[in-house]
Amino acid sequence: MYLKNRTDSYLQYGFKINNEEIALLQEVLDWIPSEILDFHTHVMPAKCIRPLSENWDRYMGSTFLYADAEIHYRLREMFFSDKVMRQVAFAFPFPGFDFASANNYLAELSEHDQSFIPFWTGTADDLKLYQKDMEHFHFHGVKLYPIPGDKTLGRSYPDLMLNELNKSGLPLVMHLPSFLSSQINDVESVVQRFPQLCLILAHMGTDRIYSDDLLAAYETLSRYENVYVDTSAVDDVKIFRAALETFGSERMLFATDQPFNLLRVQPVIHPVLGQRYATDFNYHWADPDEQLYYHINHSLVFVYSGLKMVIALRRAVEDVFGDSKEIKARIFSKNAQKLLF
Ligand SMILES: [Zn+2]
Repeated sequence: MYLKNRTDSYLQYGFKINNEEIALLQEVLDWIPSEILDFHTHVMPAKCIRPLSENWDRYMGSTFLYADAEIHYRLREMFFSDKVMRQVAFAFPFPGFDFASANNYLAELSEHDQSFIPFWTGTADDLKLYQKDMEHFHFHGVKLYPIPGDKTLGRSYPDLMLNELNKSGLPLVMHLPSFLSSQINDVESVVQRFPQLCLILAHMGTDRIYSDDLLAAYETLSRYENVYVDTSAVDDVKIFRAALETFGSERMLFATDQPFNLLRVQPVIHPVLGQRYATDFNYHWADPDEQLYYHINHSLVFVYSGLKMVIALRRAVEDVFGDSKEIKARIFSKNAQKLLF
């Protein structure tokens, strides 16, 4: 109950849009196409929440621990009011959560509302649950979550599971345990060993700040035609530009990470801790002393990260391709449709 209530209070704060965000939202709505397929959203009822380990609770991803269909309808209304919206939906993938029931919920939800496209979520070593669910329901893909600090990807994404996906052709949304810029060799090894695997790197590979190493990683992976990137949780124009210049426009998938698009955070670099997040809200994971450091040393803007993402994406698309309806249509829905249907 405590974890549900905490999520509820963050959602409540999240739903209160401020004037700056209203202006940004208008800019976003004017630019994005009328048909949207969002490739990364978390949909799960509160009853699937289970206690979180302290490690996971320290992580920004634990801000929101559930968002059922009702919450998503509200979010759609708020961010995409006049658009035709579909969303790839998977559970909140924290270890110990009730994935069996979460997958069941998604399968049933998508049966009566096809704007939700269900992806299976679970623990990568739970092949039994995976196979059982696959027999009973029609999932369009799989979302797995990393084990933090997994240096080689092997614990988070065991070969047995990758082999299943390689055979089935179902897309895998892969959230890397560390930044793509530092984990490129492991990712390339997966792609080489499982050549049929359709791999979508969540959050552009999870780097939040551009580096030449990230560009080099994109260059390497762009040679493998089954590798895609999802745009969620990134607001660095240079990252989007680097991806568009290497992968092109056909392997980028618009994604919001809804409800995490409500987060008001800014990626920052800490001299010791590396890539971190600044915020002006008292989230449970935000250490007051660390936050004070960012507030003194950075110029910070706190608006919905989901809006900042689209504004940055727009700049990158216009830099590389100009104002092209066709390119936008690909990124916002066509590429995803090709992959899914
Ligand atoms: Zn996510």
